[in-house]
Order: sequence, then C-alpha cells, then structure tokens
Amino acid sequence: EEAVKRNIPYAYFDTESGVKHAQQLHIARRLDTAIEKQQFELYFQPKMHLKSQTINSCECLIRWFDDGKFVSPAQFIPIAEHSGFILPLGEWILDSAFAQAKKWHQQNLNIRLAINISARQFTQQGFVQSIKQRLAHFNVPAHLIELEITETAIMDDEEFGISVLQALSTLGISLSIDDFGTGYSSLGYLQRFPVNKLKIDQSFVRNMATDTRDQALVLSICQLAKNLGLDIIAEGVEEHAQLEKLKEYNCDLIQGYLLSRPIPANEFEVFLAKGVSF
Ligand code: C2E
Ligand code: MG
Ligand code: MG
Ligand code: MG
Repeated sequence: EEAVKRNIPYAYFDTESGVKHAQQLHIARRLDTAIEKQQFELYFQPKMHLKSQTINSCECLIRWFDDGKFVSPAQFIPIAEHSGFILPLGEWILDSAFAQAKKWHQQNLNIRLAINISARQFTQQGFVQSIKQRLAHFNVPAHLIELEITETAIMDDEEFGISVLQALSTLGISLSIDDFGTGYSSLGYLQRFPVNKLKIDQSFVRNMATDTRDQALVLSICQLAKNLGLDIIAEGVEEHAQLEKLKEYNCDLIQGYLLSRPIPANEFEVFLAKGVSF
C-alpha cells in the first residue's frame, strides 16, 4: 500500500510472490507427468481406538517423489486443486486405496481405509457413482471405506454438498469432517450433515498439553461430538501428555506420530502384527 502510494513499480515489492509463483508453475508442470512416471505412492497412518486399544483404521496419505525428491502434499495438493490436476490424481488415489483395501480384506485384516477427498473431487458430477462403481469393481465392503472431507468442500454449495453426503452415506461408507474447527464458524450445519465422525484439527491438539485454552477447545469439541452422536478423533497426537488429556475427554480415536508416522503398506502390515499398547 505504501509502495503504491509512493508510486514504486510493482517489481520492487513483488519479488517474493514472483518467486512463489514460479515455484508453483514448476510444480504444476512436474505434476503433469508424475502419474505416468509412477512417482506417487500411498502411505498409511494408523488410527487407534482408545477404549479397546485396537488399530482398526488408517488414513491414506499421498507421497510424491519427484525424481526421488520428496515434495509435501501440503505444497502440491493446493496446486493440483487449482490446476484441475487433482481430478486425474484423485482417480489414481481412489484406485490405489481401493486396491489396497481389497488386498487387506482378502488377508482378513479388518482395516478401514480413510481417503482424503478434495473439494474439486467432492463437487464433481459423477463422484458418488465413481465410488459406487469402485465398491463393486474391487469387491470391497462399504464399511471398509471412509472418506475425509473438509467443511469448506461441503459448504461450497451446502444443499448440493448435503445431497452428496447423503448419497455416499446410503452406500454404507463412513464420512468424516477433516480439519474440524478450522473452517466455518457456524456449528448449525453439523446436525444437517449425515457424517459419522469429526477430526479435531492438529492445530488445536499441538499445544493442548500445556495451553489451557486449547484444552477447553478440545474438550468442548469432544463433548459437542458426543452430544451429536458423532465419533471423535484427534489428529497430530505426538506426546503422551496429549494422549492422557484426550483419554480424560473421552476422545474415541487418536492419530499421530506418537503411534506412527504415515508408512508404506508393507510397513503398516508389520506395525499391525507387532501391535501397540499405551
Ligand atoms: P490431512 O488430511 O489433515 O492429513 C493429516 C496430516 O498431518 C498429514 O500430513 C500427516 O502426515 C500429518 N500428521 C499426522 N500425524 C502427525 C503428527 O503427529 N504431527 C504432525 N506434525 N503431523 C502429523 P501430509 O501427509 O503432509 O498431508 C497434508 C495434507 O495434504 C493433508 O492434511 C491433506 O489435506 C492433503 N493430502 C494428503 N494426502 C492426500 C490425498 O491423498 N488426497 C487429497 N485430496 N489430499 C491429501
Ligand atoms: Mg485427512
Ligand atoms: Mg486433517
Ligand atoms: Mg490438515
């Protein structure tokens, strides 16, 4: 603003965003061929049910190794979302997740796979049909599939969003609200969403061992979920102190480095065989 007032040319203060823009273009171009080059892999992060101390589900998280170099999904997913590449990528993610679900189901591992669905995917025509087709094609029972969707994706067009959730729920799959607490401030919508679970965003979990305001927030979200008949999971749990608080708050499930980082399928099988206890 100062710069504009003093009539300084744009280039003077725009260098930083210019560099960022160039990086984004570079990533967008590299993404274009990444599926053909087989540079993507799905990793799996366990979720633990606290009362039973069992691992019965996991989150699928995409990993991109661009000529061996790891690029974070936090960086490339928004770019893919913006460019539209998320649609073919989303298909790849769904196919990989369903293929893994089928494999584990055939091995009699009772693991539900939670798949992240981006806003563009969720609102795309034919999305529900594509899930229905995959359930049949991969012959995977619906209860072994969960979709993680953000409030923002649903609220983009509330009426349409609710109808998609309703149709998915009718298929028998589970639905979670991801990053809960970071999106819309109105809670009224929650009772209208046919979802099963809330995922407390890790930004609330991060300091909850020491920050009493974060404790109050997490406790309130746990109670809210209970009152609405929803399951509640805390993500980003790294320390025992956080776990203890979450147990005290009757949180149903936890996910985080305390348990395990996201790992490849074969390592996940080893993890399951070893078992965990807290
Ligand atoms: P998200 O869905 O909220 O996923 C949780 C993120 O938290 C993951 O980051 C996970 O690795 C990280 N995490 C798990 N436990 C801990 C912990 O204890 N401490 C910390 N600091 N972090 C933890 P990741 O894998 O980097 O993914 C970031 C975001 O990228 C995801 O947030 C999701 O929005 C998006 N994403 C990742 N994979 C996919 C995908 O397959 N499809 C779509 N549409 N989005 C994806
Ligand atoms: Mg997620
Ligand atoms: Mg999340
Ligand atoms: Mg997140």
